[in-house]
Amino acid sequence: MVSPLRKVISYKLWVISFIIFLSFTHNSALITQHHSFAQSPKYIRVAILEDVSSLRLKIKGTYEVIDSVSNKVLNRGKNLNTTVTVYNRGILLGNTKSNTNKLFIKSCDANVIINGRMFRGDIQFIKNDNMKLLAINQIELEDYIKGISVRETSHYRPIESLKAEVIAFRTFALYKMQENKQKDFDLTSDIYSQVYGGKGAERYRINKAVDETKGLVLTYQGKIFPAFYHATCGGDTEDASLLWNVNIPPLKGVPCNFCQDSPHFQWHNVLSQEEVKNALVKGGYQIGNIKDILILGRDKSNRITNLKIVTEKKDIEISAKDFRNLLGPNIIRSTNFDVKVVERDIVFEGFGWGHGVGLCQWGAYFMAKEGYNYKQILEYYYPGAAVSLSANL
Ligand SMILES: [Zn+2]
Repeated sequence: MVSPLRKVISYKLWVISFIIFLSFTHNSALITQHHSFAQSPKYIRVAILEDVSSLRLKIKGTYEVIDSVSNKVLNRGKNLNTTVTVYNRGILLGNTKSNTNKLFIKSCDANVIINGRMFRGDIQFIKNDNMKLLAINQIELEDYIKGISVRETSHYRPIESLKAEVIAFRTFALYKMQENKQKDFDLTSDIYSQVYGGKGAERYRINKAVDETKGLVLTYQGKIFPAFYHATCGGDTEDASLLWNVNIPPLKGVPCNFCQDSPHFQWHNVLSQEEVKNALVKGGYQIGNIKDILILGRDKSNRITNLKIVTEKKDIEISAKDFRNLLGPNIIRSTNFDVKVVERDIVFEGFGWGHGVGLCQWGAYFMAKEGYNYKQILEYYYPGAAVSLSANL
């Protein structure tokens, strides 16, 4: 028999341990919720500076400094203007040493300014093995879309065009988040992913397009796909499978009669033989002076597949995609061009701007002007894709 007194004591002990258990799980839930830098579908992690020795950090408002390895809060404060550097055992905020390779700056509704650029959300600093810093902005996805849209489009465009573009941007971002789950960040803020301008880059009409399409993404067979987009296709969009390892109907390419009045429909550029040669040599090609450039083939959208560079030393074959990247994607604006050598110059005449895959942004602009809505624009450029709410995926 258990005495009534012992029963009471054991009940009390049970209650106390349950309360301790609750408060423990509650605290760790709080820590995870507020301090973790792990990926969550709501937040995107954008690398804003890579491999730098130092940077300037300014915070206007209250903040917390958290060791994101141990999840311990190291410091709380208000307003900061300091330099961030590394030392042998960790990261330095001014003269304050933090013995960790991962420092999380949680902004409590503060403005965070890094090297003069303002960011929404929180910042993670990571010290790498080469004693350099990586700075990552962790931001709500919808805010990120607002930040990139100004750089990726123009806020004076028709609203239906902006909505179609914003849905493509969001889809592409979510695709990158899925792809890079195990990495320190989802995207970089350069042209190779999406151009991220931070808080200073927002505009009213773009924010409206983002808010009115909140959470909407493109899917194919229920899955998010890399919804590529480009400035102007120049007549036909490109089959993604010819450039990258993705082969689905929405990215197979369509004829486009909408972008003919785009300012980027045609392009023209004259480079000296020396400039072209130097760019190729820099890219690792051992070539002599250029005698001729021959087009070896074109795909069904008229974009060049391969080129032969005839030189005094030896001839080389190069894909048009690599050629464009080595010369600069804004100099050779597309791979749909003609080329001829004229004395010491090389003359390029081409169509479109960008890789040509997915949404033609100037085509979308003119479609919207003609009265098409964002769904029709997306159906046209991504045939077979559906517009879905990302939360339901
Ligand atoms: Zn087009």
